[in-house]
Amino acid sequence: MGQAVTGSVVTAVGLSALLMSCGTTSPPTSAPPTSAPPPTAAVAVEPLSIGTAAEDTTGGLVADGQLISPFDVENPAVGFLEPALLAAIQNAATAASADGVDVKLTSGWRSTGFQKRLFDQAVTTYGSADLAAQFVASPEKSMHVVGKAVDVGPVVADQWMIANGSRFGLCQIYANEIWHFELAVDAAGICPPLRPNAAG
Ligand SMILES: [Zn+2]
Repeated sequence: MGQAVTGSVVTAVGLSALLMSCGTTSPPTSAPPTSAPPPTAAVAVEPLSIGTAAEDTTGGLVADGQLISPFDVENPAVGFLEPALLAAIQNAATAASADGVDVKLTSGWRSTGFQKRLFDQAVTTYGSADLAAQFVASPEKSMHVVGKAVDVGPVVADQWMIANGSRFGLCQIYANEIWHFELAVDAAGICPPLRPNAAG
């Protein structure tokens, strides 16, 4: 059972995510998103956005400083990646290896509960949900939760990926996260402009 404070944070973030998201999904009802949430909103929202995975607060956990191989599919952080992303990062790692660069992952798939824990920790660290969202995506927005993002390390591998990743469809997404890559090239193989951070 989450504390009232946590529920309020999730609700606030969920609302701001709804306000900021462009064309992801249609609002479920005609209720204007600018109306203040009723006091019971946290209880109502939680089952929809978090689901039963909320109890799994360690799924996809990779220890701080640990570098895992993109071929280690027995590790849930790797094995639960979307197949297209998994193939892309493996192909990129093989090509990087030929250049003498060892591409490893510091994170991949994460359970909703683990992402929520990371976000809640960031709220504590940065003091507000809005500020935390610049550094850690909420469970509702994180592409890690749906297996569509990888964090690459060490730094030399980040640099190789920034220079060469688009050959494999892989793009840096956020200016402040040189390690975070998603499949994002357009039909011409070009990566989109960098967004300033995970909240932008
Ligand atoms: Zn990431």
